[in-house]
Amino acid sequence: MTASTRAACIIGWPVEHSRSPLIHNYWLKTYRIPGEYRSEAVPPDQFRAFVQSLADRGYVGANVTVPHKEAALAWSQPDDRARAIGAANTLWLDGVLRSTNTDVEGFLDNLDACAPGWDRGLSKAVVLGAGGAGRAVVYALLERGIDRIVVANRTVRRGEGLRERFGARVHPVPWDERNAVLADAALLVNTTTLGMAGQPDLDVEVGHLPSHAIVADLVYVPLVTPLMLAAKSRELRVADGLGMLMHQAVRGFLLWFGKKPEVTAELRALLEADLGTSTGQGAGIT
Ligand code: NAP
Repeated sequence: MTASTRAACIIGWPVEHSRSPLIHNYWLKTYRIPGEYRSEAVPPDQFRAFVQSLADRGYVGANVTVPHKEAALAWSQPDDRARAIGAANTLWLDGVLRSTNTDVEGFLDNLDACAPGWDRGLSKAVVLGAGGAGRAVVYALLERGIDRIVVANRTVRRGEGLRERFGARVHPVPWDERNAVLADAALLVNTTTLGMAGQPDLDVEVGHLPSHAIVADLVYVPLVTPLMLAAKSRELRVADGLGMLMHQAVRGFLLWFGKKPEVTAELRALLEADLGTSTGQGAGIT
């Protein structure tokens, strides 16, 4: 590595199925930036020491994926987003080690691109799931001013935790009520792992949604999930998980390499080709 070459990495355990290197190395090549983006497999007991020696290892920052997103928050100085969500996925050195959670803008920017104006007059959204991604999506919807966010989660206590965390605009309901709450919802978001390759199907009736509703799925393996198919067959507007994956990567690239990259059809085609030939193993790892 030369003095002018900046390097970043994705830290995970395991990490080999991450698509982040494909995205960032595509942008490095596209913009002819002499940087590097690598994969680093780091077990949980070594995570703290690893991130505390990022600079010594030649890195200006990193993405963080499963199972380190909570630890990344603990060993860095998080911004308001990461702190509110309780997890960080992007780290950068700025005198100190800082962190943020780019799933928020990844989700919003993808919706803006796929369904422009989606939030105009939107008063009720239904979010399926209350895990790490669910927290980021609920935070994003609150940031956009959505009045009523109904969260259906299998473990009711976890849904209630979102109301305690984010306030009275969040309405937790039992998982069994997920279809009953759809009738007046203008947005449905799946943040569960259901529908992902190797996981059980997501059983939800998009037929209950109004005809102007938009459907977003965070799952991107398979590329077209049964939820996306069902929504498209009703001619509803959709935003898929691959779009969010690309958009969430933008901020890290800007922070590390100083250029705001574009999410292009060419990048999407590259990822589709890679996912199309993959086995689904390690599915969903950022
Ligand atoms: P997580 O923290 O483990 O949460 C998983 C969620 O799925 C929980 O709400 C869990 O409910 C629910 N769930 C799991 N199995 C279920 C079942 N059999 N029935 C009902 N609910 C079930 O995972 P995460 O980090 O939030 O990730 C969730 C998904 O989002 C993954 O597919 C991930 O790949 C995807 N994701 C995509 C992007 C992107 O850029 N496209 C970014 C982040 C995440 P309980 O609380 O009851 O366990």
